[in-house]
Order: sequence, then structure tokens, then C-alpha cells
Amino acid sequence: MPTAGVTPQNRVETATMNDHRRLGRELDLFDTDPLMGAGLPYWLPDGAAVRHALEEFVRGREQRAGYRHVYSPVLGKRELYEISGHWSHYRDDMFPPMDLGAEQVVLRPSLCPHHALIYRSRARSYRELPLRMAELGGMYRSELSGVLGGLTRVRAIQLNDAHIFCTPEQAADEAVAALELIREAHRALGIRPVRYRLSLPGEGGKYVADPALWQRATALLTEVLERSGVPFEAAEGEAAFYGPKIDVQIADAAGRESTLSTVQIDFHQPERFGLHYIGADGAKHRPVMVHRSVIGSVERVVAHLIELYGGAFPAWLAPTQLVLLPVSEGEVARAEQLRRRCLDQGLRAEVAGPEHGSLGARIREARLVPYQAVIGPREAADERVALRLRDGRRLDPMPAEEALARIGALVGAFAAQLWEAAAPAGE
Ligand SMILES: [Zn+2]
Repeated sequence: MPTAGVTPQNRVETATMNDHRRLGRELDLFDTDPLMGAGLPYWLPDGAAVRHALEEFVRGREQRAGYRHVYSPVLGKRELYEISGHWSHYRDDMFPPMDLGAEQVVLRPSLCPHHALIYRSRARSYRELPLRMAELGGMYRSELSGVLGGLTRVRAIQLNDAHIFCTPEQAADEAVAALELIREAHRALGIRPVRYRLSLPGEGGKYVADPALWQRATALLTEVLERSGVPFEAAEGEAAFYGPKIDVQIADAAGRESTLSTVQIDFHQPERFGLHYIGADGAKHRPVMVHRSVIGSVERVVAHLIELYGGAFPAWLAPTQLVLLPVSEGEVARAEQLRRRCLDQGLRAEVAGPEHGSLGARIREARLVPYQAVIGPREAADERVALRLRDGRRLDPMPAEEALARIGALVGAFAAQLWEAAAPAGE
């Protein structure tokens, strides 16, 4: 559960207890194999269920906010990254190119260049803008093997990404809306950012040299933060090579900070890719690209949620949402029948029968499962269940149909709470 008011001492204890690598292994969420390689975790069925729920959540929020989703390949020709500037500014973090006949292809270090090409593939009118293009896609980073571990330092990253192509006049509004979408999603997930950072360039040749561009983008992002009313700190040396960004920072149980979500305003890549739209005046104009990520990479956000909840996820995220506990052999068939009904309804349910030990032992074993439905002979006979909630509450036996419907409604609404206090009227 989220920890409030931690002292340095219990922070260290919580950090060890809730380390996502330890929990990930204990809860069978993900793992690695030396033969797949360091920094290339795979997701086990329970971890994949959490990830799938999260992806569905974020896609739904994006769809409601007017985004359209695309898919684009994880490879691109080297020239693509030469145009985007990644090749000259970011090559150290990229995998070496692969020779393919007379060409070289590269595992992409970001999705932006692909989205710029998709934008460029059709003539665009000002009437289409803002054009919000989203993708949950793979990107790759050649981290050194010494720093790899768990889900937080990986070489293959699934990024919740989007690019909004808009007019210069729309850029601030779009960035404000993106920041609001981020804050809403964080509230729904129980994520509490530790700070908002305005990330500016620092010394060195890592950054695109165009002072006017940096000033313009920085002024816009400052306006966005002020309009959003969030306190923020500026930090030098944390910008993307092509522009400044707003970083939403989170901390793990040990207090180590990292960036989860970002909003960026980019004048550079539209220029490099020669993007344009036809304005109301019939002339060609340059759009602005707003880059944003609501939940960051799937790997990092799941690592954070594992530590935040210690494995006791909200029901909609839980790998198993409902465990059916037949008291004795006689109720197993009824439990199996209910499990099939749950699956039909899209709920993730398991049966833990008497072969797994005493009822008490099975309840303890299922302590992270949000709902436990005990089915004794009486419940089996009159098609009721006695629900126990993960937080210890025990509800009076109710019709099984009603229990499943109410759980389904809470899960469908991505609810943080396990139960609605008020029962629906009439029964
Ligand atoms: Zn981007």
C-alpha cells in the first residue's frame, strides 16, 4: 500500500521489502534469462495481465482525449535518424546499425521520427490540426550491462508515447491538456509525483544549437506549468537534445528519483522533416510537435506500481481479481461454474479448491487477491457467495450474480476502492 510519512529507517525497510525485482520474482510477474540477455525482461502471465490492464486503461484515456492510435515498426533506416538528429546527438545510446544489403537499419531510439513520417505521408490542412497521434511501441537503448536490472534499467522499452502536430498557436493549449491528462491518470493509478521539473539544456554539444528555438520552447513550457498551477523547479542538463521538456518525477521506496511522464514542445524535428500544413491562407506553414508520455514506459510504471502497492494492486490491475474458495469437495463444481461465468464477463478468476489445504490456509495464500468468494454447501445450494475483501471486510452472503456484476462494474470503472458502500436499491 502507499506509504505515508516514512522515516529514513522504515524507508530502507520498505525499500527492501517492496523492491520490485524481489516482488516481481515472488509474485511471478516477470523474470530474465541470461540467454535472452541482460536488460531484456520477459513478462509472465500474471505480469502480462497487469500490463495489459494498464495498456487498456491508458489507450482508453487517450481515445477519450482525442488521440488516434497507430503502429509503426521498431526498425528504421539509419538515414531516418540522421535526419531526426538522433545519429549525431544520441548515437552513444543507440544499438549499432545492422547491415542489410546496401542499407543499414537501426533499432529505433524513439518513436518521434516514425510519427513525423506518418504525418508527412499525406497532405495536411489546418482543419486537421491538432492531430494527436499515439502509440504504445517499442524502442531500444544500449545501456551498459553493469547498470541493468529489473524493469527500471532495460534495453527494450515499451513507451506510451504520442505526438501532437499542431499550429504554433495551439501548442500551449495542447501541452496544458497533455499535462492534465497525465495528472488525471496519475490520480487514477494512485501515483503521487515528487516534483515537476522544467528540464533545460546544459553544457556540451549534446544539444541542437539554435538559441531562438530553445527560448521559444522554454517560454511556452513555463507558461504551461504556470497555467496548470503546479509548482516546478528548473534543472539544467536534463533536456532532450532537440528541446526542453516538463518531466514528472517519481521516487521509489528508497527515495531514488526518476522521470515517469513528460511533455515536450519541439520546433526542431518539424523543421528537420520539412513538415507542413496548408493554412487558411492557402500557404504552407510549419506545425509544432508536442511530444508527451502519460505513464512513461510500461516497464518503469509497472515497477513503480509494484512497489507502491506491494503487490496488492487495485482490483482492475490485479492479476487474479477473484478467487473462488469451495469449502469442501462438494462445492468445487459450483466454483468452476462461477469461474467460467467470470471469464465470460472478462474477470480474471481462479478456483482454489480443498486440495490446496484448509480454508484458512487458502485465504492466507490469496491475501493479495482483491475478492475472495467463499462457497459452502448453503451458498452452493442457493447460488450465493460470501465475499471477503482483501482489506479484511466480510460481506453478508449475496446472490452470486450480484457479486459478479458489482465487481465487474468496479473493475470496469478502474475504481481504486474495493467496494461501493451503498448497495444498489432493491434486490
Ligand atoms: Zn517524441
